[in-house]
Amino acid sequence: MNHQTESAVRSGAIAVWVILAAGCGAVPEGEAARGGQPAAAASPAAAGSKGGSGGIVKIVKSDSEWRRELTPAQYHVLREKGTEFAFTGALLQEKRAGVFRCAACDLELFASGAKFESGTGWPSFYEPIAAPNVTEIADDSYGMRRIEVNCSRCGGHLGHVFDDGPRPTGLRYCINSVSLKFDPAKTAKTVAKTAEKAAVKADSTH
Ligand SMILES: [Zn+2]
Repeated sequence: MNHQTESAVRSGAIAVWVILAAGCGAVPEGEAARGGQPAAAASPAAAGSKGGSGGIVKIVKSDSEWRRELTPAQYHVLREKGTEFAFTGALLQEKRAGVFRCAACDLELFASGAKFESGTGWPSFYEPIAAPNVTEIADDSYGMRRIEVNCSRCGGHLGHVFDDGPRPTGLRYCINSVSLKFDPAKTAKTVAKTAEKAAVKADSTH
């Protein structure tokens, strides 16, 4: 009995070992030869192409390229994390319907319907146009704990987000005007979308 039990345990252990060894390879040779399982090989590549940032393909440029493409003021804010002087931004008073894009890479960042008058002197929004389009990072500079907001595509610095904004989110994205460019609404669809957001905004008294 002892002998039988021992050999049963041994063969069981060998079976487990074989399964583990097979699991280390991507596709067992037999299946790869059949060629009938392309999904198994393709899925890791497909997951990798997303990059974990909502399908946004990152733009990487050298420092000298950014210096060439951006104005000195844009470069200072977007690439050196600078802050423009309050009440100086060209888009602070922008009240038309449309979309605010990244000044460096053109990615859509904020809709006009989410813009509100914060009184701070910087364009303020209660939400980004899509969560994956901005990246939020803890910023402990100047002895303060703030949340830095960057463009998810080019990594450009946009501003900071605070939790003292109006409804519906309670957030205040405090964004440098120089980091943005305004794209007035052209299509009826965009107008409808921004009007809908404006209605939400009007509903929230602040
Ligand atoms: Zn960008």
